[in-house]
Amino acid sequence: MAKKANSSNHCSFCGRSEQEVNLLISGMTGYICDMCAEQAHEIVNETFKGSAKSDVGISLSSLPKPAQIKEFLDQYVIQQENAKRFLSVAVYNHYKRILQKNVKDEVEIEKSNIIMVGATGTGKTLLARTIAKLLHVPFTIVDATVLTEAGYVGEDIESILTRLLQVADYDVNAAERGIVFIDEIDKIARKSDNPSITRDVSGEGVQQGLLKLLEGSVVNVPPQGGRKHPEQRMIAVNTKNILFVCGGAFDGIEKKIAQRLNTRVVGYAASSEKTHIDRNNMMKYITPLDLKSFGLIPEIIGRLPILTYLEPLDREALLRILTEPKNSIIKQYQKLFEMDGVALTFEPEAYEYIVDKAIEFKLGARGLRSIVEAIMIDAMFSLPSEEKKKLHVTRKYAAQQLENSDHHHLRVA
Ligand code: ADP
Repeated sequence: MAKKANSSNHCSFCGRSEQEVNLLISGMTGYICDMCAEQAHEIVNETFKGSAKSDVGISLSSLPKPAQIKEFLDQYVIQQENAKRFLSVAVYNHYKRILQKNVKDEVEIEKSNIIMVGATGTGKTLLARTIAKLLHVPFTIVDATVLTEAGYVGEDIESILTRLLQVADYDVNAAERGIVFIDEIDKIARKSDNPSITRDVSGEGVQQGLLKLLEGSVVNVPPQGGRKHPEQRMIAVNTKNILFVCGGAFDGIEKKIAQRLNTRVVGYAASSEKTHIDRNNMMKYITPLDLKSFGLIPEIIGRLPILTYLEPLDREALLRILTEPKNSIIKQYQKLFEMDGVALTFEPEAYEYIVDKAIEFKLGARGLRSIVEAIMIDAMFSLPSEEKKKLHVTRKYAAQQLENSDHHHLRVA
């Protein structure tokens, strides 16, 4: 720690003695006076001016490029090329917009919020979480199912920003350029595409509230959230530069897509497209129109201009998910065993067994972990107190363990 030096010392930079300067600060092996410190500070500023370093602590040149962002995502998320590309570009542009804020420019870049549509357990939250690892802006995940209109049981829309403020340590400036992932956005859809239907608490009113955030406005946020602290002073947060990423399963939307595709009688390319329709992955034909038929109001859709989808995960994808990602489930268990000095290995057929069970139980990627857990539980219980230094999981062992375990809860999930 630097401290004030005593009178016989000199500045190591200019040689002045303590009497000749206002302040002499001592370091590990020398001293610096107030004037030299000042000058050093100017040199530092001068050096970084060219790289447009902003108060965000990032510069355009140091930003990861979209291709690099995607490469990072590839290490953790299997498949989902389309969503990865859109997210990478959106995040890159988000940074550009933040950096631009500090430079007076006539062309103002508007933000492009994102909506990701895909069945549950296909990686929407994982993508959002993985992006967050890479970011230097406040990031939070909120669940749209808890949101209700003001005055009803549940959370006010503003609570979304409470979370963001909290992760930003109540630094409003930082929060105002953060990223919010709103999960289960489909749960606030109107029950019907027909706006004349009686207002539903969880539907249109919430969407109207959300619209205010997405559009960019100054919102009064209760710093502690909820309504339990009526005395708290509100904090004004401008959402203009906050990037919103929404995700939802939109169960049943494939039917609406299929309907739309089949009923489009006229229109160019209609006939040729029809012949190429990939029935196993209707999601890739999704358009904003389908979101509207599902019950999102057009204004919300307009504020989520980037629409991307996640593919269903097939058997091969599940196999890769089990072993390939940087922190794959198998690697995590191997780590756990390694800490006890036990080398854990699997025969390939055991992986296939695990994946087949996940498919059989209709659990998708989400089920892999609970199945592996059920298979490993006995070994995790007894190995730490045994001499064994190796465990090779065969298909037979896996099947035995799963059959013997009380895994019936897996089936009903
Ligand atoms: P969603 O948000 O789409 O419902 P999640 O991202 O929460 O699904 O996925 C649940 C779990 O399944 C993840 O934590 C991860 O372990 C696994 N998973 C799902 N999709 C993928 C994927 N594409 N790549 C790797 N792991 C995945």
